[in-house]
Amino acid sequence: MPRPLFATIHPDSMQHNLSQARTCAPMAKIWAVVKADAYGHGLERAMHGFATADGLALIELENAIRLRELGWIKPILLLEGFFEAADVPLLAEHNIVTAVHSVEQIKLLEYTQLYRPIDVYLKMNTGMNRLGLRPDEYAAAYKRLRAIPDVRNITHMTHFANADELEHPLLTIAEQVRRFQIGAGDLPGERSLSNSGGVLHQAMISEHLQNDWVRPGIMLYGGTPGGRSAGDFGLRPTMTLRSEIIGIQHIERGDTVGYGSRFVADGPMTIGVVACGYADGYPRSAPHGTPVIVDGVRTGLIGRVSMDMMTVDLSPVPNARIGSKVTLWGDGLPIDDVAHAAGTIGYELMCAVAPRVRIAEG
Ligand code: PLP
Repeated sequence: MPRPLFATIHPDSMQHNLSQARTCAPMAKIWAVVKADAYGHGLERAMHGFATADGLALIELENAIRLRELGWIKPILLLEGFFEAADVPLLAEHNIVTAVHSVEQIKLLEYTQLYRPIDVYLKMNTGMNRLGLRPDEYAAAYKRLRAIPDVRNITHMTHFANADELEHPLLTIAEQVRRFQIGAGDLPGERSLSNSGGVLHQAMISEHLQNDWVRPGIMLYGGTPGGRSAGDFGLRPTMTLRSEIIGIQHIERGDTVGYGSRFVADGPMTIGVVACGYADGYPRSAPHGTPVIVDGVRTGLIGRVSMDMMTVDLSPVPNARIGSKVTLWGDGLPIDDVAHAAGTIGYELMCAVAPRVRIAEG
């Protein structure tokens, strides 16, 4: 018998969330972000789930090529661009759009003879201070890129640091947009700014964000970048992590549970052992009370999460037994609620689901 732990992927919810993104940004074309194996959902599954997206965006060139082999004929964007000269001809061969974020990459393009043109997203660093050219060096970089005969369309791109927090005290979207306008000015070409946070708040900040392409990731998987919950935006979970109760213990006042004896019972109680642990990707940092659902009833984690198991309070579920169904996140339990309790973000939980967790579709 297989161990009863499954991540069920919901392709209908992927489609639904994509249409929610279209509703938020009706004028924009959508890159569905499928990096990190589609946020842990599987690249091929996501390719089908987001079949109506205008393009797919990811990090690894080999996965971009795989998408072509799987039959994806619409645009593909490499969000971090290429890493070495040998990658460049492959971009042209497979018709893959690449980000360019440094002068070094521009030099590589200048020195590489291509036989087919490529499209480029020139990335500006407007305050994230990760990848990109500064606003004051941007126009010169654009000019240099424009002079390369094999470079066809150039789109202007930046990335928001705090799209989930519109009034961030240190760096707002409005400030990043202001810097972007200074750097890109009237340069010809399309624009791409918004991630999920930007898309979800498009209505509030639309006058700044009349851009051509948006790049939502987490919202397409039923999570939010922070702030309000996914349900408020009509988003549905695309992954449900399910397990079962595989053991039951009746404990007395003063008994402790699990490694480190972190939990001490203050009276008689029944606890359930769930077949899921940190080696499955569940965060070990999840504290007492992190929500789980047992037989449809919301209860909480007790004790420390161990490698293959965790323990939950069965007091609110007196009829629970071995084989009772447990939802760790997903349908009925937003992943953001679990992430929040565990001091992390939904992104990390999705991406961390371990290869040994079997994936089902439904
Ligand atoms: N665009 C870029 C350049 C990114 O790096 C990411 C993810 O970090 C996204 C878009 C999607 O972001 P989110 O998942 O917050 O929508």
